[in-house]
Amino acid sequence: MERIYIGMGSNLADPDEQLRSAVEALVQLPHSALVGVSAFYQSDSLLPGQPRYTNAVAALDSGLEPLELLDALQAIENEQGRERLERWGPRTLDLDILLYGDRLIDQPRLKVPHYQMQERAFVLYPLAELAPAQLRLPDGRTLRALLAACPFVGLERLPQN
Ligand code: ATP
Ligand code: MG
Ligand code: MG
Repeated sequence: MERIYIGMGSNLADPDEQLRSAVEALVQLPHSALVGVSAFYQSDSLLPGQPRYTNAVAALDSGLEPLELLDALQAIENEQGRERLERWGPRTLDLDILLYGDRLIDQPRLKVPHYQMQERAFVLYPLAELAPAQLRLPDGRTLRALLAACPFVGLERLPQN
């Protein structure tokens, strides 16, 4: 079993409910145990003209191999009506593998750590609710250092999810 962090996002069709459904689906994953879910955070889309996003992070212990997990996460996205019309378009559900233990994965379908996690406040702040500040990425940087370089701007932490 390895500790995996999954970034969740939605900005279509009742985003908060999309994330709640996604959490229920994560609970059902084989060879896995859901360890925790952060609060939900709302923010404006980085792209103009899109609805606001709700984001959260889930911690999972899993014996699934990375590509098996990616397949399972994409099946959950599809089950919840994800349509891939354009890159970074509005979506019912996005599930990204942020960290997979301390593994560095560089495959055509899967790059871990997620390539933009260090720049995304809506990833780092929910992650910090679940992971210790001294957590290290494979390149040695700590979560504390990433947080210090990424201001908590434009995020609204919801009181309950
Ligand atoms: P972004 O990657 O900027 O967050 P996105 O999540 O909207 O954008 P998607 O359309 O969900 O992008 O995914 C595009 C492809 O990214 C997927 O088909 C998947 O194979 C690949 N991918 C690479 N690394 C990862 C990862 N760590 N987690 C999820 N998908 C990944
Ligand atoms: Mg994404
Ligand atoms: Mg994605």
